[in-house]
Formats: sequence, C-alpha cells, structure tokens
Amino acid sequence: MDYRKQFLVDPTKQLLLGDIDPSSTADLASKSAAADLTDQYRAQMEAEQFLLYADGRQSLLVVLQALDAAGKDGVIRHVFSAMNPQGTRVHGFKQPTPIEAAHDFLWRAHKQVPADGEVVIFNRSHYEDVLVVRVHNLVPEEIWSQRYDKINEFERLLTENGTQILKFFLHISPEEQLERFKKRLDDPQRHWKISDSDYSERKFWPQYIEAYQDALTKTSTTHAPWYVIPANSKWFRNLAISQIIADTLKDMKLELPPTHVNIEEIKAHYHAAVKAANGNKP
Ligand code: ATP
Ligand code: MG
Repeated sequence: MDYRKQFLVDPTKQLLLGDIDPSSTADLASKSAAADLTDQYRAQMEAEQFLLYADGRQSLLVVLQALDAAGKDGVIRHVFSAMNPQGTRVHGFKQPTPIEAAHDFLWRAHKQVPADGEVVIFNRSHYEDVLVVRVHNLVPEEIWSQRYDKINEFERLLTENGTQILKFFLHISPEEQLERFKKRLDDPQRHWKISDSDYSERKFWPQYIEAYQDALTKTSTTHAPWYVIPANSKWFRNLAISQIIADTLKDMKLELPPTHVNIEEIKAHYHAAVKAANGNKP
C-alpha cells in the first residue's frame, strides 16, 4: 500500500483529525506482518542516504510534530537509526531562548536547515509558532494567522535550494496518551520523561487539535507535504514513516557523483606503490 497517497493532507479541504483513526494499521494485521517490510524500507533508506551524502547536491528535512508522548523520540530512535549518523542531525525546538525570542520566528529554524548532502530531523519545529503559540495566545491572532503564508514561502525557498521537505504529524488518541503516561509512571526508568506540562497541556487537547487541523491544511503543499500518521501502534507508525521516507528519497533520483580523478592514472600510481612496497621488503 502507498502510504504517501493514503496519509497525505489534502490542502483543498479542511482536515478533520476526528475522521482519521489513530489506531489504524491500514492493510497490516500484526507487528510480525510489518517486520520484513520495515526492514526493507530501512535498508532502502540507508542506501539512499549514502547516495544523498555522496551526491552532495540535495538534502532532506523531516519535520516531526505531535502532542506529548505521541512518539517523536521513538521515531527518531527506530526509523532514523537506519541512516549513517555521518550526514544526519536532529534538532529539537524548545521554548525560545531570549536570543531566539528577540528574532523573527523563522530565524532559529533557518539556522538549522540541512546543508547540501545532509538529513536533518526537526523534533518540533517552526510549526510551534502556529500551535502552542496559538493555543496559549502567546502572540495576537493578527500575528500568528499570517504565519502560514510565511511558512509556505520559507519552505519554498528551501525546496528551490535543493531541500526535500517531509512533515509528519503523529496522530494518537487521548486514551493512548494516558496509557503512555501510566507506563512512564509505572517504570522508574521512564520517570525522567515526565513533566508537569504533559498534564497541563492535555487539558488543551481540543484547542491543539483545532490548531493542528488548520496548520496542516494551510501548509500541506506539493513541495512540502504533511502526512497524518496513525500512531497508536508504534510498529505501524515506524513502518509508514519508513516507507514514505524511502519512497521520497528514491524519487529524488540520487546518484553517485562522477570521480574527480583520472582512474587510469591513479591505478598506475597504485601499481607503482605496490611495486615499491614489495621492493622494500627484506
Ligand atoms: P519530550 O517531552 O518527549 O522530551 P518535547 O519536545 O516535549 O520532548 P519538552 O522540553 O518537554 O520537549 O518541550 C518543549 C516545549 O517547548 C514544548 O512544550 C513546546 O510546545 C515548547 N515550544 C517549542 N517551541 C515553542 C515556541 N516557539 N513558543 C513557545 N513554546 C515553544
Ligand atoms: Mg514534553
């Protein structure tokens, strides 16, 4: 099944997250049914990232957005571990520092976009400026409501510069979130992940859903599409994201660059070196 088609956000009609089942596992019945496929996409991601790095003319930016405990960290661990850390980087977006807050909202994002050949993952992103900022009225509506267009222009600039952008919203249910909070409480190894804000933010669930629906509808473009990934099931979430990334990289038609040296000449140098090395043997 082509998850790019299935989970793409259509910008021509208002997204309603209530219409998408967060427990869906599409055409797959079980974790074991997905295992081989996931491995296959991970191998494809590894091979394509090698080409992206070697080719050095394009780059990939992956944006991960979700409510707390939806699995952003899990995706980074399970999906991106398929790639060579050389050429891959994760950047997390926290509450803006005083210096960040003293600049326009895209400044800190622009500084972190991938260089040629690189893969960068945004764990949260510039979208927080139309999500948490909107939910908590951190700036007036006149300001945040103009940011969607600015984001689209910013992302177009990146695309025209050779960056492929993919944006994922990890869609979980409030029940699943509570279940994951419980797991964190029950397991001392996970206590460090618990924060007061997880519970205070949960009260704003409907407002977040509304903010997400608007943001995803207004900024899902052909150059920088949004995908809503059913994420109650972790194995399905990992499979769907791996497939979308692998297929997108494949479409970028990445190739090994031509060599910059004269291979015949280098071969002659090599043989001379071997000869000299042998001659020097006692
Ligand atoms: P985890 O909890 O899984 O470790 P996280 O991404 O939730 O990861 P936290 O440090 O808990 O990390 O949260 C970062 C917080 O910063 C989030 O509540 C987010 O909404 C907030 N944040 C990010 N960008 C902005 C912004 N531009 N303005 C205000 N708050 C922001
Ligand atoms: Mg958090």
